[in-house]
Amino acid sequence: MYNPASLKAEEFIDHQEILDTLAYADQNKENWPLIDGLIAKAALRKGLTHREASVLLACRDEERLQKIYALARQIKQDFYGNRIVMFAPLYLSNYCVNGCTYCPYHLKNKHIARKKLTQEEIVKEVTALQDMGHKRLAIEAGEDPKMNPIEYILESIKTIYSIQHKNGAIRRVNVNIAATTVENYRKLKEAGIGTYILFQETYHKESYEKLHPTGPKHDYAYHTEAMDRAMEGGIDDVGLGVLFGLELYRYEFAGLLMHAEHLEAVHGVGPHTISVPRVKRADDIDPTEFDGGIDDDTFAKLIALIRIAVPYTGMIISTRESAAVRARALELGVSQISGASRTSVGGYCEPEPEDESSEQFDVSDKRTLDEVVNWLMKLGYIPSFCTACYREGRTGDRFMSLLKAGQIQNCCHPNALMTLKEYLIDYASPETKAIGEKLIEAELNNIPKEKVRQIARDNLQKIEQGVRDFRF
Ligand code: SAM
Repeated sequence: MYNPASLKAEEFIDHQEILDTLAYADQNKENWPLIDGLIAKAALRKGLTHREASVLLACRDEERLQKIYALARQIKQDFYGNRIVMFAPLYLSNYCVNGCTYCPYHLKNKHIARKKLTQEEIVKEVTALQDMGHKRLAIEAGEDPKMNPIEYILESIKTIYSIQHKNGAIRRVNVNIAATTVENYRKLKEAGIGTYILFQETYHKESYEKLHPTGPKHDYAYHTEAMDRAMEGGIDDVGLGVLFGLELYRYEFAGLLMHAEHLEAVHGVGPHTISVPRVKRADDIDPTEFDGGIDDDTFAKLIALIRIAVPYTGMIISTRESAAVRARALELGVSQISGASRTSVGGYCEPEPEDESSEQFDVSDKRTLDEVVNWLMKLGYIPSFCTACYREGRTGDRFMSLLKAGQIQNCCHPNALMTLKEYLIDYASPETKAIGEKLIEAELNNIPKEKVRQIARDNLQKIEQGVRDFRF
């Protein structure tokens, strides 16, 4: 029985409710009064339920789709402005005991190079990332209780935060590791992590069990209930995602929104972010072998609908996608992107020899961070290296209530400009620097409060003089 407030996976992601939702969406996909009403409801910027959003996903009327895209762009602009938060993944270890059929780290893969970074190697990788200009990392690891125990992850986080190279510093470490216990989540919280990210992969239980035939990840309920344990362990910001391509996208979309509704019902705060990865070619993985592949237009439609269904949730797109797909995603709702990513273990300081590849998947966007920053600014965005919110305690429901009150503009916008300024001075190429300096000057005027604008101006001057890390 469907119950969003239940703590049982099979009740808050109720299979029958998803099937009923899809049937309801099919019955109503040409119900124009209903659809027009739903678009009007979404325009109130309070979100949509999984049923409502699923009807819009089933709708194929071009004129109405254009209205949905326009609304997604507007909501994106109103809540997030033109800032795009930058991050990079850091792969710590690809040892894994699971049998995930879409991931080359699966236990049976004997020809992928297995690597695990030592603390000394982490120092080298993080130094290389700092030298590009990154301030925010997402650490990634396979699941292997012996090779990658929680103590190793905690020690690595400590190492990452301790490294200060030139003006570099990693100010926020997000964590994407396998589902774990409340006790371990508490330890991650104490280690000062930002968001805990865990992709559901698929919400379809039967498919989930087939796609994860062996290993601890096989347990659907344990995986699906992980965010509740993370929140019980004190982590306020959690990041959801499905791996699009594995199952039918309409099923996943309903499941994803039901998961968000569940977090809101139980913990009073929805997901901090939603990621939209698609399955990619990898060492022994052929993405066409999975049933749910989606084309770029459907992918864009999903992004726009997530944007209007959960307007307060940040959206993340990785370098799995090409520059062209990312540009479209940014317009329709994505607020965070990675840049210059390597999905290999130890790939930042030295390229891997081809016969020793430890990569998780092929990246499509292979540009340097400077190229991505330059490109974003030419598209009219402000690349932001800001990490202030969680360091100022603006997490969970505190962050959400500020966002809902439209107050984030007074912190995020100046913070984005100040961190961009740091980047331009410390790391940018001359061309990127010239574009950025002009952009900052023009954008200063968009800070709503005069007092905040003045402080930002003063801080920008101090940054020029070599002082770092100002934040509102
Ligand atoms: N082992 C952890 C877990 O079980 O959640 C950490 C996550 S793994 C390093 C990061 C994510 O990469 C996975 O959750 C999965 O969605 C994604 N992934 C795995 N194989 C992929 C592929 N072939 N293409 C694209 N993404 C993939």
